Amino acid sequence: MKHVSYEEWLKYVENELSEKVREKYEEHLYSCDDCMEIYLTALEASETSFPGFSEDHFTDSIIADIQRYKEPVEPDAGKKQKFYQRAAFHYLIAAAMTILLMYTGVFQQLIGFTEEFERSSRPSITNELMNKTTNFIENVEKETREEQN
Ligand SMILES: [Zn+2]
Repeated sequence: MKHVSYEEWLKYVENELSEKVREKYEEHLYSCDDCMEIYLTALEASETSFPGFSEDHFTDSIIADIQRYKEPVEPDAGKKQKFYQRAAFHYLIAAAMTILLMYTGVFQQLIGFTEEFERSSRPSITNELMNKTTNFIENVEKETREEQN
């Protein structure tokens, strides 16, 4: 297929082409950098000349979008995400605290202190915290891998 002219791209942007032609142009667009550039120029020109698409309107619509984003439409999905973030945050703090305390030697004193009290077979708070943190990090890593696949 030969290249698409600027005028044609302008028509495309302003929705003045038939479905068939649109599809043909779109297909060409995916494989042609030259036309992509022309298309973007046409898009820009069309946006600035759009009636009722002034900068004020644009800003207003962005603000509306942000406000909509702040109040999630799906409360369940929002809660889930927030809980996940909160859990991650707390585990990170716990992990950071563990490392910090280990470095400063406070943990050594703390372990000796708690061991005095906990000579039972129960796993120590330290081990439990370390296990939980490790498990959590492993889960996050697994999830991240799965998302990438
Ligand atoms: Zn082309």
